[in-house]
Amino acid sequence: MKGPPITVSCKCGEVRHVPYGETWQCEKCGRRWNTAQIPAEDYWGIMREMRNYRLVVIGIALGLALAVVTLLAVALGVGVATGAAGLIFLFALALSFGIAWSGISTFIALATRNSESTLMISILTTFPLLFLSTAVMPKPLLPDWVQTVAVYNPISYIADALHRLIITGWDWAVIGGAFLVILVVGAVTLSATTAMFRRAVSG
Ligand SMILES: [Zn+2]
Repeated sequence: MKGPPITVSCKCGEVRHVPYGETWQCEKCGRRWNTAQIPAEDYWGIMREMRNYRLVVIGIALGLALAVVTLLAVALGVGVATGAAGLIFLFALALSFGIAWSGISTFIALATRNSESTLMISILTTFPLLFLSTAVMPKPLLPDWVQTVAVYNPISYIADALHRLIITGWDWAVIGGAFLVILVVGAVTLSATTAMFRRAVSG
């Protein structure tokens, strides 16, 4: 079984991605770097933890999408405005946001190296953001200060796109904006976890 490569930075400045267990001799200065020095248990433990938390957060995101759809459908007594294609978009949005957002819990898992605190912090960071977004209520109905927070909350943009798909129809500016937010969240969490992973296996 092969895991993701480890980024090795040589003292001379060369950087190379080396598969776990392999040795790399720097072409520039000749120093040797042995990734097998990282205990296998640590390496695979971290990989397992990362995968587990990823699944938990993706599950939460999908459950959330389902709950929003069901609630709205029941409340409005109507179907989805954009039909079956809209439903596919809806789940694609929820799933890709879940994957991007799950990087946060991966980051926490690597930082704390502790399962309980990872789960706690993940839940404590995700749920308040959820309630401080337009996910639960249309913006005009939210208290003033929550409206202000909601503007900076990535979950709002996803929720807006979901609402449009269900209630009004295809609004490409809002849907495109949601995908853009997902890309930004994904880029931020991915670079943060990559940096943290490097620290975790080299520490
Ligand atoms: Zn070197």
